[in-house]
Amino acid sequence: MAESVCIVAEFRDGGFRRVSFEVASEGRRLADSLGLKLYGVVVGSGVGDKAQELAKYGVEKVFVADNPAFEHYIAETYVPAVAEMVRQCDPAVVLLPASMNGKDLSARLAARLEAGLAQDCVEIAVQDGKLRAKRPLFGGKCLGWYEWSDGEVAMISCRPKVMSCLEPDDSKQAEVVNVDVEIPDARSRVVSVDLDTSGKIELTEADIIVSGGRGMKGPENFAMLEELASLLGAAVGASRAAVDAGWRPHSDQVGQTGKVVTPSLYIAVGISGAIQHLAGMGSSKYIVAVNKDPDAPIFSKADYGVVEDLFKFIPVFTEEVRKLKS
Ligand code: FAD
Repeated sequence: MAESVCIVAEFRDGGFRRVSFEVASEGRRLADSLGLKLYGVVVGSGVGDKAQELAKYGVEKVFVADNPAFEHYIAETYVPAVAEMVRQCDPAVVLLPASMNGKDLSARLAARLEAGLAQDCVEIAVQDGKLRAKRPLFGGKCLGWYEWSDGEVAMISCRPKVMSCLEPDDSKQAEVVNVDVEIPDARSRVVSVDLDTSGKIELTEADIIVSGGRGMKGPENFAMLEELASLLGAAVGASRAAVDAGWRPHSDQVGQTGKVVTPSLYIAVGISGAIQHLAGMGSSKYIVAVNKDPDAPIFSKADYGVVEDLFKFIPVFTEEVRKLKS
């Protein structure tokens, strides 16, 4: 009989990524349903007493490997360390963030631990004592439920910004176990990191996104969307057509070959709604589409649709938002 639900938290640049708290919260709910303990695993550099932050979301014991060698995610060093600590948790279920690094880590970890992995899940449930996880399939065209055989370790990576965070409880304390893991010589190393210093809100963390497509007609017109976004406290995204045209950097691309985003509000401007774009934003809570073509496929996914020339609508809309803000 396994002992725990184990979460693997993502620690980067001196702090936990928010998705780690979402995963911890989901872990707490699951541990309560299954009658198991909730343990956490953290690999990073400078974790120190920050490990206690996981306790606020219900983690009872945290296994920490704190070493400068873990400053950057390198699969060769991270995977053996995480695997060793996860084994110490004796888990029935392992939850990880489905972030860029988390997806890479979970696939490798599942192979190493011979666990069954469901990637990028949007819901986890326990029905009649049986664990199930739901994930989008075929670029978001349908949803599939996954189940595990009895005794099989279930590994689930959770899509960021989908699972809700518990209210943090500052009075909670976790037992912290510092683990001295063996760090293998890595054949790869991080030579340099180019950080985006523009102060832009990261798309995958944004609560509101204003995205532009080919309908924007040119890079200069994105200034309109930047203005609206700054009033809304939003990030600016783009379709692949806008990125391929060189109007926006690839880091702004939303979709199957771009970023998967789950904001509360996604405003698609001059975007037709191709399946590959929907794959990246279809799980947004509310979708607003602005398109002059009433038959554009984006309207089948949108909660609110504006059939209008975007060059007429966006300036008027921006002015209304400005009035509401002042
Ligand atoms: P279009 O499809 O050309 O749509 C432009 C829209 O703007 C139209 O609906 C038009 O009615 C509207 N419009 C034009 N002028 C105005 C105006 N003045 N006012 C209002 N509306 C206007 N795409 C992605 O976005 N992300 C991906 O990650 C991605 N990955 C892909 C992966 C693969 C393997 C493949 C094959 C394709 C991928 N694509 C991806 C491309 C995708 O298929 C579409 O080609 C792309 O999303 C189209 O972008 P768009 O909607 O901006 O352009």
